[in-house]
Amino acid sequence: MKTCVKCKSLNKDDNNFCNACGCSEFVAAPEGAQVPAQPAPAHVHKKDYTMYDLFTIFGFVSSIIGFFVIALVLEPLSLSASIAGFAKGKRWRGLAIAAIVIAAIGLLIRLFVTLYDIGMIPEWLITGTFEN
Ligand SMILES: [Zn+2]
Repeated sequence: MKTCVKCKSLNKDDNNFCNACGCSEFVAAPEGAQVPAQPAPAHVHKKDYTMYDLFTIFGFVSSIIGFFVIALVLEPLSLSASIAGFAKGKRWRGLAIAAIVIAAIGLLIRLFVTLYDIGMIPEWLITGTFEN
């Protein structure tokens, strides 16, 4: 066993590059050290995220908050941020999809409620009947 000098991950002695960060410098690991059962894939770099990944986080958070306050501001913001995060981000793309769906639903609900409040939704659409 040997330890990566950069990220301190344990690696097998015959690894040329660190499983976690791709670094090629190692020091001897402590006696009896074991490689974790599921080492991180080589292409996943710790703390390696871009501005667009932060968009994803922002989009997700604002899509949730948008359900409670200022939906007509937050949900479109969330949609834009999540789509940018999904298209250009490297990580958390599932979260971006979730945020897009949540924001779209939140926006639709908000629009529907708003239209209903100002009388733009006909009664039959709510009650399912044309009778009055
Ligand atoms: Zn490493």
